[in-house]
Amino acid sequence: MKKIIKIVPMLIAGIGFITPAISGPHWGYEGDEIPENWAKLSPDYQMCDIGRNQSPVNIAGTIHAQANALDIHYGLVSGNVVNNGHTVQINDKNTNDYVAIDGEKYKLTQFHFHAPSENQINGQSYPMEAHFVHQNGDGELLVMAVMLEQGNENPTAEEILLALNEKENLPSNINDLDIRSFLPPVNDYYRFSGSLTTPPCSEGVTWIVLKQPVQLSKTEIVKFEHAFKHHNNRPIQPLHGRLIIAN
Ligand SMILES: [Zn+2]
Repeated sequence: MKKIIKIVPMLIAGIGFITPAISGPHWGYEGDEIPENWAKLSPDYQMCDIGRNQSPVNIAGTIHAQANALDIHYGLVSGNVVNNGHTVQINDKNTNDYVAIDGEKYKLTQFHFHAPSENQINGQSYPMEAHFVHQNGDGELLVMAVMLEQGNENPTAEEILLALNEKENLPSNINDLDIRSFLPPVNDYYRFSGSLTTPPCSEGVTWIVLKQPVQLSKTEIVKFEHAFKHHNNRPIQPLHGRLIIAN
């Protein structure tokens, strides 16, 4: 008999949203501010330590289930690109970019990058991972992750790197960015409940990791790594019995 597995999204209380560079005590990936110390940096970061549904995870031992289709409705993104000291982030000012799943619409607010990848698939890490951060009308978050592997040049990555101001926290405008070149041809995905991978590590985030990677050239990967100055991936977190659904 088939078991129906439903992931119940939890409400996240009190998150304005991911603007880590602007609010809260400083955190990072090096020295005293490494991920293992985040919870010690502020009482607001306690979830980084005590949370039982933390991200990223190693996606292994998945359960195949009748999963609903993921509809991605991305057009041309206009907004700005900024090196916020933690990542390179593109803030989407359009109101019509969204994904839909389970009849629920999640609007794209921003996307950013990690090197190397944060999530792993069967223990495999990728050179980079893109996180597309969405929010629904109730303020619930959905992050869609795309693994980035070394290969052909990606024209959209090129545009982002060209527009990027090297100085931190100095946004530059970006117009009509075709982010569809960050999407693989097939939308098959892994799905699980998780958290922000940066302080305050808030839980109740729906994670969708697309199975197929997208390519970036070696030069583009090196340029992103240069902008980050150091690795910006939080280590893998324990699943604590969470199920990972694969469609
Ligand atoms: Zn991220």
